[in-house]
Amino acid sequence: MPLLFNDGPDAIERQNEAVSEEQRSSEISATPVKHFDAVVIGAGFSGLYMLYRLRELGLSTRVYEAGAGVGGTWYWNRYPGARCDSPSVHYSYSFSPELEQEWEWTEKYPRQPEILRYLNHVADRFDLRRDIQLNTRVLSIIYNEASNLWMIKTDQGDQVSARYCITAAGCLSTPNTPKFPGLASFQGQVYHTGQWPHEGVDFTGKRVGVIGTGSTGIQVIPQIAKQAAHVTVFQRTPNYSLPARNRPLTPEEKASVKANYPQLRQTDRESAAGFTITRNEQSALEVTAEERQKKFEEVWAIGGFQVLASFSDIGINLESNTYMADFVRAKIGETVHNPEVARLLMPHDHPIGTKRICIDTGYYETYNRENVSLVDVRTSPIEEITPTGLRTKDAEYELDALVCATGFDAMTGALFNMEIRGKNGQLLKEKWADGPRTYLGVMTAGFPNLFIITGPGSPSVLSNMTVSIEQHVEWIGDCVQYMREHHCSSIEAEVAAEDAWVAHVNEVANFTLFPRANSWYLGANIPGKPRVFMPYVGGVGNYRIKCQEVADKGYEGFCLMTYD
Ligand SMILES: Cc1cc2nc3c(=O)[nH]c(=O)nc-3n(C[C@H](O)[C@H](O)[C@H](O)COP(=O)(O)OP(=O)(O)OC[C@H]3O[C@@H](n4cnc5c(N)ncnc54)[C@H](O)[C@@H]3O)c2cc1C
Repeated sequence: MPLLFNDGPDAIERQNEAVSEEQRSSEISATPVKHFDAVVIGAGFSGLYMLYRLRELGLSTRVYEAGAGVGGTWYWNRYPGARCDSPSVHYSYSFSPELEQEWEWTEKYPRQPEILRYLNHVADRFDLRRDIQLNTRVLSIIYNEASNLWMIKTDQGDQVSARYCITAAGCLSTPNTPKFPGLASFQGQVYHTGQWPHEGVDFTGKRVGVIGTGSTGIQVIPQIAKQAAHVTVFQRTPNYSLPARNRPLTPEEKASVKANYPQLRQTDRESAAGFTITRNEQSALEVTAEERQKKFEEVWAIGGFQVLASFSDIGINLESNTYMADFVRAKIGETVHNPEVARLLMPHDHPIGTKRICIDTGYYETYNRENVSLVDVRTSPIEEITPTGLRTKDAEYELDALVCATGFDAMTGALFNMEIRGKNGQLLKEKWADGPRTYLGVMTAGFPNLFIITGPGSPSVLSNMTVSIEQHVEWIGDCVQYMREHHCSSIEAEVAAEDAWVAHVNEVANFTLFPRANSWYLGANIPGKPRVFMPYVGGVGNYRIKCQEVADKGYEGFCLMTYD
């Protein structure tokens, strides 16, 4: 008895009645007490915009958010130094020209509190909070075939049904803390950067151990070093880090951006990475050694992701990549005074850019401080956390606090934390046991009307994510609108289309150097996770065209069921 949209209060009434009847005859034992047209999981950039969009379409929507506030990543990651690596004016919503004009970014790369303020402003400005239930974790999303509804249960006892379920649960929202033996015995404080205490942490006079030197470790270490008595960094894999060259935006820059937002956004949407980068179309092999060096110095002076665009083939040609990697290693050598420490900080086991490239402010310089030491846990692995510190194969370190900058169970972690069951009771985690399978990264066969924002198989974490998020939200909104106009009760990815897309995602990834690194893009940071390259490397602009083509062809590759 599908009735999809709220044409008015009567329709809501009728729909709820219809749903209750369906649930009575359903296999689900618990009776939902409420029905929504759509349920959205997560209230970060994705969830907030999805709610806005669904409201525009007239759908009754409930957003569930595990945190006590909105903001997602920027609500949870409050560690000192937390900052965005995408330029602020690109890392923001484009859907509202009024919002663009009224919001003033202060720095080139915004700090976490500024982004969190922005997202709270968005929630207030568009009156989003009334449909967001905070402090509520979704435990299960189970598809009921008889009613063609999703049954959602939360840890607060909510049991609701929804025609559409949209996961906006984040690609990097499930913190990963390796199972170090003895961790529970540690008598000091243990922190994960992705769950940082809201009241902040005072490290004054403390001996602090930091485990992990990825993007987060590289941001947090210089800040803790300024406060703590001593910081011991436990590094397994050195990562390449590029200078941010962060600075306040000038009044002229702010005015210019505001005057040019439409063009800036359009360029972002059509770009490869979701923000404007000046690409050099030359190969690094086409030029002399002197010209190459000059170019590398030029981009190094600009800083940020621009460095990787120095030549056209850094991401696909190992020889070109090695020139760039050698340049960065030389910079590390010039910056770090102690040659042995510099050597340990130089990455050698992966091409530059094939793991999430880090962007820093004073990271390498931090190792010139008296109160910072580096321990290579690749040659001397961590054996256990003791009540008073940490023991490696070769030494014991006395610590008062331990900071795990150990990242996330990326892209699938938040999905697998929920019991998501589609047709025939199939568990998503089981369907994806050998790696995620999606069509366009937004839907997966066997799970009708379940949309995944920035899911595996879409550009997501390889892009400036706000651009990818907006594109997904708008595509999903348009799809729902299309279903309304064409009297469709469900949409589902076809297996053949999904298989072809998975093959394409792999093919494109294998054309690049990405698969050569043991990165979290491949799930390599999580023991037992299948080694599959998850994000789509084909570029934001190309991907958008593909998604639009699919929609223009009446959602080619999807099976749509009508209720007439
Ligand atoms: C430290 C850090 C720095 C980053 N820097 C950049 C950057 O420079 N550029 C860039 O483009 N991206 C960056 N990212 C990626 C960032 O995650 C995205 O840009 C963006 O914030 C994602 O928004 P989202 O709404 O999709 O997910 P999130 O912001 O992760 O929000 C997801 C929300 O879902 C909630 N949730 C998850 N599961 C459940 C559940 N079962 N029930 C209820 N709620 C649930 C979570 O609590 C979370 O609040 C960074 C990420 C991190 C962690």
